[in-house]
Amino acid sequence: MSVVSAFAAPAEGAPLERTTVTRRDPGPLDVVIDIVFAGICHSDIHTVRGDWGPQQYPLTPGHEIAGIVSAVGDEVTRFAVGDRVGVGCLVNSCGQCDACRRGLEQHCRERAVGTYGAVDRDGTITQGGYSQQVVVTEAFVLRIPDSIPLDRAAPLLCAGITTYSPLRHWNVGPGSRVAVVGLGGLGHMGVQIAHALGAEVTVLSQTLSKKDVGLRLGADRYLATSDPETFRSLRHSFDVILNTVSAPLDFSAYLRLLDIDGTMVCVGLPPEPMSVDVAQLIGGRRSLAGSNIGGIAETQEMLDFCAEHGIAAEIEVIGAADINVAYERVLASDVRFRFVIDAATFA
Ligand code: NAP
Ligand code: ZN
Repeated sequence: MSVVSAFAAPAEGAPLERTTVTRRDPGPLDVVIDIVFAGICHSDIHTVRGDWGPQQYPLTPGHEIAGIVSAVGDEVTRFAVGDRVGVGCLVNSCGQCDACRRGLEQHCRERAVGTYGAVDRDGTITQGGYSQQVVVTEAFVLRIPDSIPLDRAAPLLCAGITTYSPLRHWNVGPGSRVAVVGLGGLGHMGVQIAHALGAEVTVLSQTLSKKDVGLRLGADRYLATSDPETFRSLRHSFDVILNTVSAPLDFSAYLRLLDIDGTMVCVGLPPEPMSVDVAQLIGGRRSLAGSNIGGIAETQEMLDFCAEHGIAAEIEVIGAADINVAYERVLASDVRFRFVIDAATFA
């Protein structure tokens, strides 16, 4: 076992502080990764603050991991020391059930093991990427294409796949009219990916303050949801609405913006339940759906797609000492568009 520097929340809602985590000795199929960058996902904040239920503390978050392989187990075939790799939200699953066999490890019938705060298959609690090193079984390690810098690649491991997967599942392509609600970490990836897939993309943001960069990222239109005229002018305008908002929304107002057979896909996961006016589903035969990250093969497909299209996250690199300030800025929607922690500063 090795003890490595990390940052963890010591208790629910408490500021993160420097600590250590223990990493297992690599088994035959394990890959040891020296972490270089770790993204800050809004899910990290929801989790350490108890928004989604009680956790075991101290808890080291981080599921947007980019690094370099520093050792491999005897039976590892796909990775070698020096490879550029990533780890996302999953580090294990049963591998046997129908969901795993279909590449839907996130929906494993037995139990998908999250990268932090989850009971691993060996009974330990997983600890995430705000640390210097992680040990992950090779089936859950991704290859980062050479053309994507590691800092801009890290957020793809969650924000990238969480937006790519639903856009692909709901067949977004040339001719699709897509709205992305919320231009944060997920939203700014959703805009770039939907644009690269050939869709006509509209951003629905609380204000117009990020309009310039939204258009540069590939949006065709950018409207403020604080303006009631937005909801009047866009009725029946979209085939797919990708909701990335971390807070409750008035679903009915957004469902009215869908055309016949349109789908609103929620990836944002606020703590509170939300209500729906079913009349807005019946009228227009509309659907309200959800989507959870993506499987491992699809995550590799997304990384390769991003490389091919010259897409990566827009980031602000910070030191570990600034994690708590960064959390407050994410909560205030004051991030363009992902904070990425330089793992050298965990020490
Ligand atoms: P983020 O960077 O904070 O972005 C969320 C965006 O939502 C903000 O930038 C803001 O966009 C908008 N927003 C925030 N509060 C709002 C409010 N009260 N009303 C309207 N809009 C508001 O967060 P993120 O990392 O992208 O994550 C977004 C959500 O997705 C979180 O709930 C996270 O836990 C969840 N998530 C889900 C999955 C999954 O697999 N389903 C994976 C990762 C994350 P504007 O400033 O443009 O208005
Ligand atoms: Zn995430």
